Amino acid sequence: MKIISTPAEIASWSVEHHAAGETISLVPTMGFFHEGHLQLMRQARALADLSVVSLFVNPIQFGPGEDLDRYPRDFPRDASLAEQEGVEVLFAPEAGTMYPAPALTRIQVSQLTEYLCGADRPGHFDGVCTVVAKLFNLIKPEYAVFGRKDYQQLAVIRRMVSDLNWDVLVVDHPIVRETDGLAMSSRNKYLSISERQTALCLSRAIRLARRMVREGLRDCAEMLSGLKKMIATDDSARIEYLMVVDKGSLIPQSIITPDSLLALAVRVGSTRLIDNTVLFDDEE
Ligand code: AMP
Repeated sequence: MKIISTPAEIASWSVEHHAAGETISLVPTMGFFHEGHLQLMRQARALADLSVVSLFVNPIQFGPGEDLDRYPRDFPRDASLAEQEGVEVLFAPEAGTMYPAPALTRIQVSQLTEYLCGADRPGHFDGVCTVVAKLFNLIKPEYAVFGRKDYQQLAVIRRMVSDLNWDVLVVDHPIVRETDGLAMSSRNKYLSISERQTALCLSRAIRLARRMVREGLRDCAEMLSGLKKMIATDDSARIEYLMVVDKGSLIPQSIITPDSLLALAVRVGSTRLIDNTVLFDDEE
């Protein structure tokens, strides 16, 4: 596996391999890999001749007071895991090479960013879209793989690609969970043993919501109030948002339909965790 750390070098690597007729898939990440990341890498490998994983803790997608400085990092472990997955290139630039001058340009996707994380984290998706746009321009992948764990991010990137006519196919991957249901996340590292238990309230809420739907409940307010009550039984869990939205427009709904997405963000201690489910889908 090749480790590349500058934008110029990854751009010329891409030109060289495209000239040889090879296709490229990209998995954008912030590192501190877990099984979720590794599954995305496997999917990327199956899609194209060559796969690139980018590892970049993108400063412009973090707001003031967020966890940019303490975001978990372990480059040697990440490099070895990516290599074991058979990835061709790990692109791990320093912030100074990605943003040699303050970035005065931002890509902004409206509407889809109005609710959920977009409402809680102003500017977050502008930072995400801007860095993903830079990665697409540098690497020009035919495929880019994103997890449904960050459902709103996936929807926003898909819309950006379509609005800006990028020739890249955005492929999604289901949420990968621990055996007890907790969605895998690099941020789970922040959780103490007791917080780890509290964190199960997210996947429990999802299971309860799916059961309510199976039993015929269609009123969103009634569902959300039941879920809030369940989450509130633990003092150390604080709901940031808990919403049923249309899975395409991400606009809140009042009645559950086959297109309903339940999405939630809960702060457990100082750690912000997110999860979601399409209520009628079989697989999650
Ligand atoms: P991150 O490093 O957290 O920015 O995540 C990089 C990519 O991995 C994003 O597309 C995420 O949606 C995806 N991802 C993170 N955690 C999971 C998970 N538990 N299941 C599936 N995909 C995930």
